[in-house]
Amino acid sequence: MDTLRTSAAADFDAPYGLLIDGKIIESNSTFDVFNPASNEVLAQAPDASPEQLNDAVAAAKRAFPAWAALSWEEREAFIVKLYEALEAQKEEFITLLSLEQGKPRHSQADFEVNLANPWIPKTAKSRLGVEVIEDTDVHRVEVRRAPLGVVGAIIPWNYPYLHVLWKSVPALITGNTVVLKPSPYTPLCALKIGEIVAKVLPAGVFNIVTGGNDLGRLLTEHPDVGMITFTGSTATGKRIMASGAGTVKRITLELGGNDPAILLPDADWKSVVPSVFWSAFGNSGQWCIAAKRIYTHKSFHDDFVKAFADYASQQKVGDGMDPTSVLGPVNNRMQFNKLVEMFEDVKANGYKIALGGDIDPNSKGNFVPVTVVDNPPEDSRIVTEEPFGPIVPIIAYDNVEEVIAKANGTPFGLGATIWGRDRAQAEAVADRIDAGNVWVNEGQNHPINAPFGGHKQSGLSVEHGGEGLASHTNSKTVMIHK
Ligand code: NAD
Repeated sequence: MDTLRTSAAADFDAPYGLLIDGKIIESNSTFDVFNPASNEVLAQAPDASPEQLNDAVAAAKRAFPAWAALSWEEREAFIVKLYEALEAQKEEFITLLSLEQGKPRHSQADFEVNLANPWIPKTAKSRLGVEVIEDTDVHRVEVRRAPLGVVGAIIPWNYPYLHVLWKSVPALITGNTVVLKPSPYTPLCALKIGEIVAKVLPAGVFNIVTGGNDLGRLLTEHPDVGMITFTGSTATGKRIMASGAGTVKRITLELGGNDPAILLPDADWKSVVPSVFWSAFGNSGQWCIAAKRIYTHKSFHDDFVKAFADYASQQKVGDGMDPTSVLGPVNNRMQFNKLVEMFEDVKANGYKIALGGDIDPNSKGNFVPVTVVDNPPEDSRIVTEEPFGPIVPIIAYDNVEEVIAKANGTPFGLGATIWGRDRAQAEAVADRIDAGNVWVNEGQNHPINAPFGGHKQSGLSVEHGGEGLASHTNSKTVMIHK
């Protein structure tokens, strides 16, 4: 590993630069990146110009034919080099991730990096074979897969290390080249990954540009980009669909959610308190598949709320670099201000608050107290909107038919968790939930070789698994007369 450190290491003391055509490039202007725990400037990131974005796409287009012509095994070998170099500097990446995103270094930042890294070589081992539809003495029909060309990847700020790899590795192993744009709130891990990419992958195969939202729009509209793979809000996803239409782009959208957690009437509600808590408050509620509405049967609602609030009150919110913090600040002031507004709405409407509720709008860091709202109305903002922060409503219901209707009564359909002693009944409820990912009696552990995506306005297409891999390719039917 020491050899790798010197030959393919990122320099964590060096200024941040763009990765274009295998080179680390300066930009004419920079923007500030803030530490969410203090709102002090952490670093300056390069603000790529439209010309630099064009250079990145042109480099990816030039690199495409040679990269696509490599065998799967040759591409896998390059990607494994990237994995080994990232593993060698894991500790530096975990620290940088905690500093730029806010999540606790010792629990959630190391979880993210340790989840993402081993997945790289596993995914690089994937293959899409030729499917034989018909094979007779006179005729053969095959479905072959062809890469799309340049894939534009646009990612959010909640898992800024993991998303770089989740977006790029499936695109690369299937023979595409990549231009990635991280969120302006969390560009730093991506840029340091870029320094390693510059040393281990052929020039132009993987490019990284940072800047504001408009850079994302330009990437989406670019005529030489064949596919956009996007993770972010539903509002931005709709804009991407519209701006990709001009060039009929392939589009994968992983969007927002408002996932229900349903505790069925026979649920062992006492023992599931910690699991339900972490499925709602992991990463301070800033994850797409977080439980955002907890439905409890009326027979144990009050007892559950009390036990949940007791457990929640023991979880320390603090600076992510403090080893005693288990929840960090929210990532940015825009999100903090949205939460201030949500908290004001809860208070103005007089909803019952079981825990927390007092957010300090002048807090120096973006700290938000863990907040539990007890039984707000079904049409309240806290139930119908995705807060994307550490606040959750717990809602009482009468019967299973009613709770299924409520769970499905939303434009979103990303995930759901179902808790109940009678597994057959819990599975039957899972069958009736209109969502891309449903967990029965477990938190949101997603096997990365399974497809991941949302129904309704939570997304389009899927990532991961065979289906996700195939979405980075065109299907080509070849009919051969023998
Ligand atoms: P966002 O939509 O504001 O931004 C995401 C990315 O899109 C950023 O890189 C941003 O710069 C870029 N962007 C903004 N406007 C653009 C435009 N017009 N064209 C192209 N790119 C543009 O989302 P966010 O606030 O960074 O992330 C939070 C949201 O992401 C939440 O709604 C959450 O549920 C969702 N999310 C979904 C998943 C999933 O897998 N379904 C995972 C994580 C987060």
